[in-house]
Amino acid sequence: MVDLKGQYEHIKEQVDTSVLQVLESTAYINGPEVHAFQKELEEYLGVKHVIPCANGTDALQIAMMGLGLQPGDEVITADFTFAATVEVIALLQLTPVLVDVDPVNFNIDIEAVKKAITPRTKAIVPVHLFGLAANMDAIMELANEHDLYVIEDNAQGIGANYTSKDGTKTKTGAIGHVGSTSFFPSKNLGCYGDGGAIFTNDDDLAHTIRGIVNHGMYVRYHHDVVGVNSRLDSIQAAILRAKLPHLDTYNAARRNAARKYTQAFAGIEGIITPKGFCDVGNCVCDVCDCHVFHQYTLRITNADRDELVQHLNENNIPCGVYYPIPLHLQKAYADERYNEADFAVTNQLVKEVISLPMHTELDDEQIAFITETVINFVSK
Ligand SMILES: *Cc1c(COP(=O)(O)O)cnc(C)c1O
Repeated sequence: MVDLKGQYEHIKEQVDTSVLQVLESTAYINGPEVHAFQKELEEYLGVKHVIPCANGTDALQIAMMGLGLQPGDEVITADFTFAATVEVIALLQLTPVLVDVDPVNFNIDIEAVKKAITPRTKAIVPVHLFGLAANMDAIMELANEHDLYVIEDNAQGIGANYTSKDGTKTKTGAIGHVGSTSFFPSKNLGCYGDGGAIFTNDDDLAHTIRGIVNHGMYVRYHHDVVGVNSRLDSIQAAILRAKLPHLDTYNAARRNAARKYTQAFAGIEGIITPKGFCDVGNCVCDVCDCHVFHQYTLRITNADRDELVQHLNENNIPCGVYYPIPLHLQKAYADERYNEADFAVTNQLVKEVISLPMHTELDDEQIAFITETVINFVSK
């Protein structure tokens, strides 16, 4: 699905030098590399504060802790996402409120969010799923209207731009009150272990969060709030510093591969290619930059998706099903509050979606082989 080795070969010299420098420096935790990466990411994202942490799941949890959400507060998020999003809501004893998604862009459905808002709702967590910016204008408008926090789960969307109605472009993760991301190796900006970060433009919130990631300490050995231990280590920061300057090129390579996939599938019955909600229509363009294709996800509408998975596997083509089970049907998150009729889209998507190999090193020959194999299967 990803070619981390090929990508590493291209930046090996710089990564190896930087990592060796950290080893020599012995500043393994909170060293200068971490601080430098933080500054560089702030600049790249155009956000006032980046707070690095141990992984993307912690980033979400810490964002929610920083906002002071309390047990029983309702937090609305998408039924169709990776479990980490709902996991931290439940872990903090907040009340997850899962809602359906949009069948075209796979992101949280705005009408469903509206319907789910109650006097106990405190936050909305949009996920920029598969690398496509969610409809942030509508989400921010709803949040302002109902006095809610917006926490962007940007684990799959780093580098994506969101173009607002007024034409301003903002990086995803820097639009809501707080954003989070993951540097898991296969993410668009991945390190060589675990890593994550929290973003905000709010000075007070940034201060609170800096304490939370460090055992609730603002002054050494004074623990003012209950915190956690969540740090990005210096070696990972050094790797991320070597990779960040390439992020736009990496994302362009992904978009380029996506464009070729979409061209090959054009007009093939039974295959729905990924699109965004933006005015440009087909987001496999460089005009809007709103999609960074963490995944290239098709909907297979008139063949058996699971048989296609098997067919691709037999042809040595990796593929993934993100995600095979709606969160509201997972044992850990099932709840009698939920009504099946409210999850029609997610229930359908879990049967139809398939993600094809997507990374920075895909070449034309690979894309041709993959697309031919898929088309042969659905056309048979
Ligand atoms: C990867 C991911 C996370 C969690 O990130 P980790 O670094 O693996 O903890 C959270 N949300 C989404 C949508 C993800 O894809």
